[in-house]
Amino acid sequence: MSYEPKRADFSLPVRINLYSDTQTKPSRAMKEAMMEAEMGDEQGGSDPTVWELCDRTAALLGKEAAMFVPSGTMCNQVAVATHCRPGDEILAHEDAHLQSSEAGGPGAISGVMIRGLPGERGIFSAETLRAAIRPVSRYSPPQRLVEVEQTANKGGGACWQVAELKGVADVAHQHGMKVHMDGARVLNAAVALGVAASDVTADCDTVWVDFTKGLGAPLGAVLAGPRDFIGEAWRWKQRLGGSMRQGGMNAAACIYALQHNIDRLAEDHANAAALARGMAQIPGITVETPETNLVFFDTSGTGLTAADFAARLRPFGVTVSVSDTFRGRACTHLDVSAAQIEEAVAIMRRVVT
Ligand SMILES: *Cc1c(COP(=O)(O)O)cnc(C)c1O
Repeated sequence: MSYEPKRADFSLPVRINLYSDTQTKPSRAMKEAMMEAEMGDEQGGSDPTVWELCDRTAALLGKEAAMFVPSGTMCNQVAVATHCRPGDEILAHEDAHLQSSEAGGPGAISGVMIRGLPGERGIFSAETLRAAIRPVSRYSPPQRLVEVEQTANKGGGACWQVAELKGVADVAHQHGMKVHMDGARVLNAAVALGVAASDVTADCDTVWVDFTKGLGAPLGAVLAGPRDFIGEAWRWKQRLGGSMRQGGMNAAACIYALQHNIDRLAEDHANAAALARGMAQIPGITVETPETNLVFFDTSGTGLTAADFAARLRPFGVTVSVSDTFRGRACTHLDVSAAQIEEAVAIMRRVVT
């Protein structure tokens, strides 16, 4: 078995990339900011641009301290390792990225177990969490951490409301647990809910945000939380090989994203809504109404699997991702325009009829 990714067919250009907001390319202006960046040795503490990114992100998310990490996956793994001890249990939604898409990291790296909780659209209630609380006994695994995903990726990009987060966090804290937010798209949630990012993260002890999704940077994520937590987390970042050297160049792209690419997420949400409306009119396709930039659809009424549908779009330069036999995902982001959404819908209609 090889786990190496399949090399893309570079002879078939992608024109309308609805595959993922991870596939955005840095703009010319972002690259210019990278070229201007002051740099030092990030792991030695002498890169001023990385410090600036950490300070700005900590302030944005309303936390004391932050650290720059190469990826969101590593943020989750560092956070789990820092919060937990082997044998601990984490409570998370059963569709959480942490559980399904991080190669078993929590078990392999931290020796923890994850208990999946049910809930519509990737969100579980305070009552569901309360029902999963175990008695404190010699037999029970220590329940250490509650993890929430904002926005809930497989839940269709759904947003946790601030009150829902508070309800869950209150239960967690009453039982001595911490709350960690996988905030890969937390800024999409803040924009969609029309509230400050720091209000969305207020009830979570730790949170990270991805810069390589809708924010459009080439790589990087920032993990934020209390200063003593970030202090501890640094050892895990070092241990996992996540400490960097001249990180300032990438941090500059992230700072550029903070300055230019947050408010515009509203355009991606409007484009997702337009895409959903257009796709819903294609015979045989049903669409889950999007809350943010992720549009999940079902192809079963067309007689095509989601993979067939994606394969038929590909020669037209349109890409979507496949999440299940008949479930697919189309994602809007800063490299897709409103005009391209219309064009994509027309192509989709053509390939199914
Ligand atoms: C993308 C994503 C991650 C992982 O982030 P990477 O930067 O790709 O490692 C984690 N959680 C969620 C919900 C995501 O969508």
